[in-house]
Amino acid sequence: MVRETKLYDALELPATATESELKKAYRKLALKYHPDKNPDAGDKFKEISHAYEVLSDPDKRRIYDQYGEEGLSSQGGMGGMDAEDLFSQLFGGGFGRQGGRSGPRRGKDMVHQLKVSLEDLYKGKTTKLALQKHIVCPKCEGRGGKEGAVKTCKACNGQGVRVTMRQMGPMMQQVQQPCSECHGEGEIMKDEDRCPECHGRKVIGERKVLELFIDKGMKDGQKITFAGEGDQSPGITPGDIIIVIDEKPHPVFQRKGDDLFYEAKIDLLTALAGGEFIIPHLDNRALKVTVAQGEALKTGMIKVIPNEGMPVYRHHNTGHLFVKFNIDFPPPHWTDPENIAKLETILPPRPPLPSTGDKHVDDVVMQDAEAYQTSRNQDHDDEYEDQRGGPGVQCAQQ
Ligand SMILES: [Zn+2]
Ligand SMILES: [Zn+2]
Repeated sequence: MVRETKLYDALELPATATESELKKAYRKLALKYHPDKNPDAGDKFKEISHAYEVLSDPDKRRIYDQYGEEGLSSQGGMGGMDAEDLFSQLFGGGFGRQGGRSGPRRGKDMVHQLKVSLEDLYKGKTTKLALQKHIVCPKCEGRGGKEGAVKTCKACNGQGVRVTMRQMGPMMQQVQQPCSECHGEGEIMKDEDRCPECHGRKVIGERKVLELFIDKGMKDGQKITFAGEGDQSPGITPGDIIIVIDEKPHPVFQRKGDDLFYEAKIDLLTALAGGEFIIPHLDNRALKVTVAQGEALKTGMIKVIPNEGMPVYRHHNTGHLFVKFNIDFPPPHWTDPENIAKLETILPPRPPLPSTGDKHVDDVVMQDAEAYQTSRNQDHDDEYEDQRGGPGVQCAQQ
């Protein structure tokens, strides 16, 4: 006979209760006394969870039957699982409580990078994204097989782990190992009973098409979350699908926050005498920009076209478009001496040479540097080749 019945009493069962009666009783009482449902029940939920934790484990039950709770506490480390953990392990989650370590188990979020062009971020876009995810098998409703085919593993009582007691000198020590009978799954099923749809895996792959709204002005790294659309698994709250915007580099524009940067290549005449140039924008417009007469744009100079930058995300204003100039000079020998003489009458006069003091002045002539550059590099490479093999000799110019 058993020494005491306190734990059995907690589950409202006789000491002769079978494993399935224990599980059934615990399920019924846990649902009744779970603090989310019944906040006035005090420690009742913890009490029944503790009772079930002990009695559902054959080793612990044997010790309890023989020695009572005293026997359990003398083993040390029998504090056991958190009541909520036990509950969610058996029934898959609490009642949707958020946050805290005792909330229901939640699946992982699925994160996808989505390459988006700057044009689409400028204009906004609705797009569809297809991806593969796991859903709870509709054929077996996540059981993995015929109703009743899935049996709780007797060896581990559905825990997936087995606790064995080992005598270590004067102490009894408990060792926890994955159950070898059920490969740590806590359940056993005959092959012929397996669900033909999911082959006992309880989940199947499904192609999911998500409709995505890319809002005007969204930025690189910004996230679009589809709550609860992650992989499904029985007994687990699915995580989210998170789409991360990955802005594609643009061949023409550079984006900095809500502003755009554009490099305009302008001919010398327009730069000096004024004219027009075109900036093809990110929508169906092109901007015709007027350069004022005599503005004298220089390479590297930056001007701004207000409010032609990116739209600001969820606002009605826009950033600005900054234009950096690169003045395209005419090619060498582009005109005759006659015109050059005209230029001398038009352009500001040459400034006088600065004083050279008491230095001796040598007259020299410039040549095209390109040819010289190449030959010098070649010389240097040869030198390097020659020296490389020599012991202890280093290339002094490196
Ligand atoms: Zn097992
Ligand atoms: Zn199935």
